[in-house]
Amino acid sequence: MADPTRHVAVLAFPFGTHAGPLLSLVRNLSAVAPDARFSFLSTSWSNQTLFSGMKGEEINNVRPFDVDDGARDDHVPSRNPIEAVELFLKATPRNFERGLEEAEKEVGLKIGCIVSDAFFWFAGDMAGEKRIPWVALWTAAVRSLFVHVDTDEIRRNLEAQGISNKGQTLDFLPGFSSIRSSDLPEGIIISPENSESPVDILLHKMGLILPKATAVLINSFHQLDPEISDHLKTRFRNFLHIGPLILTSPPNPKPESDPNNCLEWLSGHDAASVIYVSFGSVVTPPPHEVTALAEALKESGFPFLWSYRGTKPEGILDDGVSESGVNGKLVTWAPQVELLRHPSVGVFVTHCGWNSILESVVGGVPLICRPFFGDQRLNMRTVEAIWGIGVGLGGVMTKQGVLGSLRRVLVEEDGKGMRERIGVMKKLAYAATGVDGSSRKDVNDLVEIITNGD
Ligand code: UDP
Repeated sequence: MADPTRHVAVLAFPFGTHAGPLLSLVRNLSAVAPDARFSFLSTSWSNQTLFSGMKGEEINNVRPFDVDDGARDDHVPSRNPIEAVELFLKATPRNFERGLEEAEKEVGLKIGCIVSDAFFWFAGDMAGEKRIPWVALWTAAVRSLFVHVDTDEIRRNLEAQGISNKGQTLDFLPGFSSIRSSDLPEGIIISPENSESPVDILLHKMGLILPKATAVLINSFHQLDPEISDHLKTRFRNFLHIGPLILTSPPNPKPESDPNNCLEWLSGHDAASVIYVSFGSVVTPPPHEVTALAEALKESGFPFLWSYRGTKPEGILDDGVSESGVNGKLVTWAPQVELLRHPSVGVFVTHCGWNSILESVVGGVPLICRPFFGDQRLNMRTVEAIWGIGVGLGGVMTKQGVLGSLRRVLVEEDGKGMRERIGVMKKLAYAATGVDGSSRKDVNDLVEIITNGD
């Protein structure tokens, strides 16, 4: 490989589904900018997971560098996923500073640009000291980005109105009249129990500092939520819609793409008849909700494919595919992106993580939403009240609630409308990422900033 002319450092947030989309973007950039060298900084666990399926030629000019995860060698992880995040945040930014030094030494070239997860507001300081561009990727929706950028304004308004009424709508924000204060991520409205949360503090700082970034990137496309996108364009120096990344950037190769033969199983079913269930990479619903969901799935009579985390849901299917006439499949991992594009899938029961929603839009599959934390409630509200492409289950899954929602989406007239609306969004997603599409143009602008920006 020729000597690189530009060294780009990439700082990944190693939890949830953050680092994967960032790496797929970087692999795309590395293919268009072969003279640049990309140093990808994440924890060793995250790098191992992301890079394990790749062969040398697939990595191109991208090299992983491991940074300290903040846990001592003798640390015994707890069941609380937030603990690992907090330990990691305590190790920042020092762990990344060390990583940058190591990368510069190994590559033999000063870093000329920093691309980071938007969470890392301190990457702005690092880039400022080096007088180089800082490009920040927000891996979620425009609406959740907006509420973090405008947190102080939201707090002022809600305090003035008295925040006791959690159902009050955010009429004072453009495009938010159907969103309630109870839909906001936890840290926006400070309550005594979460005011000290390091993640909330991080996100608040991020919202204040992001406008200084050379460019803010979002894994979305302009036509999906144009009013909010246009508003954010006025807040940032460059606001680039470079998604859906699953259409603009190559997926990260996996050691095995469909180990549980989900796609073959799906092919034996009628069009739009199968219920797909997944709550992403972090959430495990409480046992009573798992039971309620399992009972509803069985009673609904529709075939279902459930990708579950943790312990296998009890009493649903004890030995695989068929038990007393129930037509379902339980797996610990499914090729979700391909699955949601399969014509047999009729509805997606989801926790409303942003990647899941985008993948459903690209597949044209309506959603049933059970959000848990962070941006998930806001995503649910957007899905049901703004876009009309799904049903919100609110705060808990009950057997009757799930059954009613399944009927609405799969049987009733209402569901047809949802399918039509998400079908329109799907077309817009493909148009944005096709030749001359808006996301393609923004990716080109990004390549310019990364390779030549100052
Ligand atoms: N995913 C998958 N197979 C599974 C479960 C999840 O491929 O069996 C992927 C899914 O395609 C998505 C990601 O995991 O890209 C979940 O991301 P999301 O933002 O929805 O939720 P998070 O994991 O961050 O909570």
